[in-house]
Amino acid sequence: MADNLEIGDVVHAMSLPAAMIGPDARIFAYNAGFACIFGDGFMGRHFITVLRQPDLIDKIETVFAGGAPMNATLMTRISGQDASFDVHAAKTGDLVIVSLVDRTDAEQMEKMRTDFIANVSHELRTPLTALSGFIETLRGAARHDPTAQDRFLRIMETEAGRMTRLVDELMTLSKLEGTQRQRPTDQVDIGEVVRLVQNTLGPIADAAGVAVDVDLPPAPVVVLGDAAQLQQVFTNLVENAIKYGGSGKRVEITVGPHTMQPRLRTQGTAITIQDFGDGIAAHHIARLTERFYRVDSHRSREVGGTGLGLAIVKHILNRHRGRLKFESNVRQGTTAVVTLPQK
Ligand code: ADP
Repeated sequence: MADNLEIGDVVHAMSLPAAMIGPDARIFAYNAGFACIFGDGFMGRHFITVLRQPDLIDKIETVFAGGAPMNATLMTRISGQDASFDVHAAKTGDLVIVSLVDRTDAEQMEKMRTDFIANVSHELRTPLTALSGFIETLRGAARHDPTAQDRFLRIMETEAGRMTRLVDELMTLSKLEGTQRQRPTDQVDIGEVVRLVQNTLGPIADAAGVAVDVDLPPAPVVVLGDAAQLQQVFTNLVENAIKYGGSGKRVEITVGPHTMQPRLRTQGTAITIQDFGDGIAAHHIARLTERFYRVDSHRSREVGGTGLGLAIVKHILNRHRGRLKFESNVRQGTTAVVTLPQK
């Protein structure tokens, strides 16, 4: 027993969740990681009453009986969240050592990857199907009808434009992922960026009958940033305010002076982009920055949206150690608040 106790100490030095089962099939040592998964207070209990999953128990019994080391998968819930582990058990002397590797994050990544590919394929298939259909019609029924040809070609142009935008935005996202950890180094005057965005989006705002007003503090507000990326952030947010909040007929952009920003725990500026349109129901707000998430897919496609604009905003702000928050009331409008640290 004294020997076993010393051996038992080994699990406490392991970074993986681990336990040792004695020759009497009772657990005689386990570490904190193991307790996080299976609960605590089972020292000396038969392993069957602790591990509980029939497949796992069968395999460990085989190992006990002199079988080769085994691997199994454990699916469980920890603090209300699904979790999965690779379990390894091997016999050494008359003891069995069980150790676990957490696979939860890796599996989530894998799921995100497959969902992402499915989403991209779906997004590309819709315009491609439309293009193929129109090509067929132009060759057949509309062959001698210039008016129809003109109309179909215009739709085809829009669909091709949407695909180009989608591919461009996917490339932007993938580039952003590569530079996520590189801190930006330019001194950027936020007022200048916001004015530039106001001018660039002027034609779109005019076409939608929306007035875009900018309110700047008297002194320039300068942050450490990447000017082109910050321009992209405000372009996407102001364009959304015009596209989805346009019924309110005005958009207000306000740049605040540098003050202590509790959410950033440092000095920084808060920039608000407020529209007075339809607003966003509360249950959508937390998901807006997910890739391809849209409140109303039909409407987004109608205005040429790809569902990637806010995902790009979030990535850029992460690189800047900034934050994005939405406040919205249905039928009263939406306010996007960007906070950026001064340096
Ligand atoms: P999209 O390309 O569809 O515009 P975004 O990622 O930019 O994608 O936005 C995601 C969704 O968030 C939009 O489809 C829209 O439903 C919603 N949304 C964004 N901004 C606003 C806003 N100001 N008012 C209402 N809905 C908005």
